[in-house]
Amino acid sequence: RLDLAGKIARRLGAGVREETVHAVDGVSFDIAEGEVVGLVGESGCGKSTLGRVVAGLHPVSDGDVRWKGAPVSSLSHADAKAYALGVQMIFQDPFASLNPRMRVADIIGEAPLYHGLWSKSEAGDRLAAVMRRVGLDPSYRRRYPHQFSGGQRQRLGIARALAVDPTFIVCDEAVAALDVSIQAQVLNLFMELRHDLALTYLFISHDLGVVEHIADRVVIMYLGRVVEIGETEALFAEPNHPYTQALLAEVPRLDLRRRTYTPVKGEIPSPLDPPPGCHFHPRCPHAGPRCRAEIPQLKQVAPGRWSACHLNDGGVGHAG
Ligand code: SF4
Ligand code: MG
Repeated sequence: RLDLAGKIARRLGAGVREETVHAVDGVSFDIAEGEVVGLVGESGCGKSTLGRVVAGLHPVSDGDVRWKGAPVSSLSHADAKAYALGVQMIFQDPFASLNPRMRVADIIGEAPLYHGLWSKSEAGDRLAAVMRRVGLDPSYRRRYPHQFSGGQRQRLGIARALAVDPTFIVCDEAVAALDVSIQAQVLNLFMELRHDLALTYLFISHDLGVVEHIADRVVIMYLGRVVEIGETEALFAEPNHPYTQALLAEVPRLDLRRRTYTPVKGEIPSPLDPPPGCHFHPRCPHAGPRCRAEIPQLKQVAPGRWSACHLNDGGVGHAG
């Protein structure tokens, strides 16, 4: 189980203009073992930052990430290593994250050999097994990344992640760069792996169709805050938060296979300077005076459903 609460600072800019902003603020949710949680939001909403925090690649400035009940910041050396190996990240662009000068065998085998998870004598067999597991022919072990197609490269990235026997995978737009037909194959691979290896996923995607297909629960983010959490089917059928409603409404209902979102009406404000009160108020059709003054907190609105909107909590009419 992984619990997350708090603020995450992100440094933007460079030199004198560098400033710390709360890229993610007041986020709180948990992910149970074996669960697939989809994390959805427009670009710049902080979802990649959140994914990096979960994978231990970005610090939390105020709050904590708990891994199996213990704060990640105070793990023993051995537990910190187990956490670092246990949570692996898969990125959008496999080519950018694969060293072009390394052969497949070294790309996949580097971490497990370094950490002593594979012995030298068994490395060949372990490599072949993990390559087969992701649908790559082990005879390609001496090839370089550029000798593979986009879909094969993503399989390579998955094999590299699996080589250290993780239990939790953070996928950041892991199929976004792939052709639709290849996307389906890679999504099926993720589901197979989940089943066979009892994996847990945080699946970050801007593609609502992908998330609806793969996730048990969905977390919707807007400008660094979680605005709604719910079980996938119920949330898609009856979104509570006006932002979620807008995301779903603007996508043609019949085009279920490719429900990427067209941007909700209005510009997405800068995360450096989010609007006061409810960050969504400049774009919200229901906004009232209270929305401009007071940040709505996540409240449970139904079993398994949480939403951060004043409409659920006394209305939008009065400021303060
Ligand atoms: Fe809209 Fe107000 Fe709810 Fe924010 S709090 S989503 S502005 S109604
Ligand atoms: Mg991103």
